[in-house]
Amino acid sequence: AASPSKSYNITLLPGDGIGPEVISVAKNALQLVASIEGFKVAFEEMPMGGAALDAVGVPLPDETLNSAKKSDATLLGAIGGYKWDKNEKHLKPETGLLQLREGLQVFANLRPATVLPQLVDASTLKKEVAEGVDLMVVRELTGGIYFGKPRGFSTNENGQEIGFNTEVYAAYEIDRIARIAFETARKRRGKLCSVDKANVLEASMLWRKIVTALASEYPDVELSHMYVDNAAMQLVRNPKQFDTIVTNNIFGDILSDEASMITGSIGMLPSASLGAAGPGLFEPIHGSAPDIAGQDKANPLATMLSAAMLLKYGLGEEKAAQRIEAAVLDTLNRGFRTGDIHSAGHKLVGCKEMGEEVLKSIDSKT
Ligand code: ATP
Ligand code: MG
Repeated sequence: AASPSKSYNITLLPGDGIGPEVISVAKNALQLVASIEGFKVAFEEMPMGGAALDAVGVPLPDETLNSAKKSDATLLGAIGGYKWDKNEKHLKPETGLLQLREGLQVFANLRPATVLPQLVDASTLKKEVAEGVDLMVVRELTGGIYFGKPRGFSTNENGQEIGFNTEVYAAYEIDRIARIAFETARKRRGKLCSVDKANVLEASMLWRKIVTALASEYPDVELSHMYVDNAAMQLVRNPKQFDTIVTNNIFGDILSDEASMITGSIGMLPSASLGAAGPGLFEPIHGSAPDIAGQDKANPLATMLSAAMLLKYGLGEEKAAQRIEAAVLDTLNRGFRTGDIHSAGHKLVGCKEMGEEVLKSIDSKT
């Protein structure tokens, strides 16, 4: 008799703007690879962001957060738009996203930056430098200077206005992000570069000490350290030297944006936010793109690749993840391009058609 197949619950948060378009396409891909790999997925679609504000008056309804907490993983489209830009803080779509991250306690943000051979011309760097780049930034997301206290405004002894912030990291916060980074490096090419400013900042000195102490638990991972100023430079000088980068909240904020520009194509970039045990949150790095929303123009591949990260890092279904990744490459190889990545000699398609072509590629490889 066939063994009972595994079954996963996935919360879908389409959100605003192009969110619903790209989520619907990614949902089909998840369904298809699940049936090929022999596991079940059940989707629960919930309101979030501006869509939730309009429907029930809050950007993250309790039912939405509860669904995300109970499920095995959450896939988010995008949130926000001009319509809500003037809202008060607690009524902004973006506040809902912060509440969701906090509610799920996802302290590790994973952002790959991969220069696909098919899209090397989109890179902001010279072809020789960009070709073959395949790196992952693991950013600490819930600590550091963005949250540290004391913070605020005051006056100094000369009566001058001052603004001040504090970078605080507790040992356990560094330990847990470093573990995720070592595990991530292990699933990739086994190289981890920890980025800090340990020559100047105490929080960085502790960071380096704890990351270094963990290395003996991961003998298969090669650990190196780099100061953040040098890392910013090395990322544009020779990004191929990096596999996995782990860094704190503020440095990660800056370096992950820098790394994404190496690829040059915002419509292609996925992300994952992971906690210690609970379900992860997976989303494309682009926003709701209100300028092209509802026109079937959005590139769904960032969301497809986020779905692949969901399978790999969220559910441990690596083969299914690889099927989506391979199909995305195959679809690009067959010449299909949405407007954001289009260039002469390729077939310009919309969001839906791009999605259908990826499904065909998944099918053709089984
Ligand atoms: P955020 O909402 O995070 O602040 P943003 O407003 O800075 O993001 P986006 O909404 O990501 O930026 O859009 C920036 C530009 O990129 C827009 O012109 C948008 O149309 C384009 N863009 C973003 N995502 C996609 C996509 N998936 N496909 C095609 N174009 C996209
Ligand atoms: Mg925006």
